[in-house]
Amino acid sequence: MYSYNPKSKCADEFINHEEIQETLQYARENRHNRELIQEILEKAKQRKGLSHREAAVLLDCDLEDKNQEIFALAEQIKKDFYGSRIVMFAPLYLSNYCVNGCVYCPYHAKNRHIARKKLTQEEIRREVIALQDMGHKRLALETGEDPVNCPIDYVLESIKTIYSIKHKNGAIRRVNVNIAATTVENYRKLKEAGIGTYILFQETYHKESYLKLHPTGPKHDYNYHTEAMDRAMEGGIDDVGCGVLFGLELYRYEFAGLLMHAEHLEAVYGVGPHTISVPRIKRADDIDPGVFDNGIDDDTFAKIVACIRIAVPYTGMIISTRESKECRERVLHLGISQISGGSRTSVGGYAEEEPEEECSEQFDVSDKRTLDQVVNWLMGMGYIPSFCTACYREGRTGDRFMSLCKSGQIENCCLPNALMTLKEYLMDYASEDTRKKGEELIEKEIGSIPKEKVREIVKDRLLQIQQGNRDFRF
Ligand code: SAM
Repeated sequence: MYSYNPKSKCADEFINHEEIQETLQYARENRHNRELIQEILEKAKQRKGLSHREAAVLLDCDLEDKNQEIFALAEQIKKDFYGSRIVMFAPLYLSNYCVNGCVYCPYHAKNRHIARKKLTQEEIRREVIALQDMGHKRLALETGEDPVNCPIDYVLESIKTIYSIKHKNGAIRRVNVNIAATTVENYRKLKEAGIGTYILFQETYHKESYLKLHPTGPKHDYNYHTEAMDRAMEGGIDDVGCGVLFGLELYRYEFAGLLMHAEHLEAVYGVGPHTISVPRIKRADDIDPGVFDNGIDDDTFAKIVACIRIAVPYTGMIISTRESKECRERVLHLGISQISGGSRTSVGGYAEEEPEEECSEQFDVSDKRTLDQVVNWLMGMGYIPSFCTACYREGRTGDRFMSLCKSGQIENCCLPNALMTLKEYLMDYASEDTRKKGEELIEKEIGSIPKEKVREIVKDRLLQIQQGNRDFRF
């Protein structure tokens, strides 16, 4: 029997089953404990986050008025830390060869009817040009796990190719990587290749379920998978992105597990996850989401997003095009700080639409709008779509990024970067209507930059962007 220890590097101790069970019981017993819930909300208002136990009580709270307070606080924290900026990205699928047996994923090794594809460097070039022509500056690389067909050297070579392509005014300035758990040595190589965030979804923190959901292949090793972020940190990657696939297990369990993972990284490395993603299972080639019993409805989903926002205020939150426009709209103001747009989840889907019979897609996309439509929609709601990639290029990763958040300097740094990269987008890629809306938004938002000196520099740089110069950043 293992005991709970956030400082341990053993998965069974930092994600401890008994501790989660006790947390869920504690939350259940206190779900209408008005006094305790008020106390937790008071602590949350200090914006220093909550423990997994405290956050679990808020998630379970069933007092209507307190739930309203939870949503209002999440919204306020979102505004205080991220203003109205929303960072844009797109996934790029390099290969769907996979040796694992994940029961929820159509890439599983036994699926004989999806087309298996792996992009050549020339095909990557075409994909990247298509993505640059949409206006993207930040990518998340995705692959299945296959040491023979998709070895680390291929991923490294692909990253090099991606960074080298400069088509017209386009450039991919930040490549995040979502590949299977790997060794410290490989994480070091990824770091040297200049990746932004290393993303790995836990899928589920419930070990017994995890073993059943991943019956075969290297991913079956729960501890190796769960300890991946530790190895990434040891390999020098200090921006890591966590997430669970909601629908596989009880959401309360996953919520507690996610926060315990964040607490563990903070306790051992002094920095929690850079981002948390909140994917839900979707229909895919031979996958029917209906067979998983733990699907969550949109109300529960919104509550989860709000409670994560309150529990880890400095951690970015990502939502993908797995979710519909309506669902994305609902959770944006509750805590989401990054969204994808114009995404394709097939291998090679950007340069050319995939013929239906080939179907290399990982899952059905719900939000099928173009990037321009997403940008336009965001601005219509008062958000500033940001194509900023400055932090990691300026060495502000890990705790240096966190201290930028904590210092309150974000409005003098992130806001200008957001406005300047939006201006680039408007000049190079936007439709007429989007450009008009964007120019008005920039004009209005310049006034929100607190320091006058910074404001003046931004005005000057916006003018320079208008004249054809690119890539300014603070
Ligand atoms: N293969 C890598 C690994 O082993 O972690 C990760 C890359 S995979 C392309 C990205 C993520 O897609 C997975 O971690 C999983 O959570 C998610 N995913 C798989 N099947 C899905 C489905 N049917 N619906 C929604 N998301 C899915």
